[in-house]
Amino acid sequence: MKQGSIGREVLDFLAGNLLDPTPLNYRFGYLYLTRMSKVIVEETDFNIENGLRLRQDTIIEIMGKHVEASDDPAERLAAREEAVDVYLSAAGELARETQQQADDLGIDIAEESQTIRDGAQGDDLKAAIRRILDRAAEAERELADSSTRIERLQRDLDEARNKALVDELTGIPNRRATRAKLKHLEVDKVRFSLAIIDIDHFKAINDTYGHPVGDRALKLVANALTESLAPWSVVRWGGEEFLVIAETPDAAKLADKVREAKDELAGRKLKLRETDEPMGAITFSAGVAANISSTDETLKQADRALYDAKKAGRNQVLVAQESEQVTAAA
Ligand code: GH3
Ligand code: MG
Ligand code: MG
Repeated sequence: MKQGSIGREVLDFLAGNLLDPTPLNYRFGYLYLTRMSKVIVEETDFNIENGLRLRQDTIIEIMGKHVEASDDPAERLAAREEAVDVYLSAAGELARETQQQADDLGIDIAEESQTIRDGAQGDDLKAAIRRILDRAAEAERELADSSTRIERLQRDLDEARNKALVDELTGIPNRRATRAKLKHLEVDKVRFSLAIIDIDHFKAINDTYGHPVGDRALKLVANALTESLAPWSVVRWGGEEFLVIAETPDAAKLADKVREAKDELAGRKLKLRETDEPMGAITFSAGVAANISSTDETLKQADRALYDAKKAGRNQVLVAQESEQVTAAA
């Protein structure tokens, strides 16, 4: 493939398949033509070889499979954002189309009514009335068809939205969902405290036992934290970091609960599923802060306290204001 012409080729490919040049479709075309995604190439070739047209929902399905098969989190997120965009623009288009149908119906009926008002008689009158009834029945069918499509889109959109807000590995809310929640708290002027939790020496778990065990450990920690800290929400903030949002201005209270959660987790006797071999305890460090000023500032303070907790030897929870004085407490 010639360098520099790929963009054009993708657009031609999309046009040739009657597909709109949306970001999702473009990405699909690009990954297909450059043969960069095995899943996309196989699925698409299968459709083409079987003479099936590449419809929009086929693309969405194929891209879904591609994303499932990809272990690059950025790829997963980008694809989901695009899916939401695609659904949104499809829904907008459908709404415009439905409006157009309603307008057309109004015009058609107005024309027929005029015929009647102009004094149509006998067969002409009957024919005009028949046309109005037929047109109304046709409109009803169009409307039923549109509403089925709208319902389907709505379902797909809800699903895409939900997926975009949930961390796929652990099943708990992700950072993106949290941004929205924090914004709401800020707007509603709710006092809250945050804890940023970071697993200690997590890299060593991956290095010693492998990535799949690391993944299982993350799930385990997510579940343990969610359980211990309920009803407060626990979200996956990043790789091996979690954020707790507690609707209380009492940071010390949150810190106590996080400490309890830490001790509960550290007390578990973990074993490797494959060999039953005992695994070392999982501990974490955490920084806690109350939202005295902005949310961003609160996050920064919690992060600084977390950093201090790591520096002070890990396996401990520090509250932001105290973190300056404490040097080595457990
Ligand atoms: P520290 O006590 O200073 O926090 O040390 P650490 O090893 O926990 O921290 P570091 O930031 O060096 O390493 C974090 C590791 O977490 C590196 C990264 O590969 C791993 N990680 C991040 N996300 C995932 C994931 O989804 N699955 C697995 N298995 N590992 C992950
Ligand atoms: Mg970290
Ligand atoms: Mg860590």
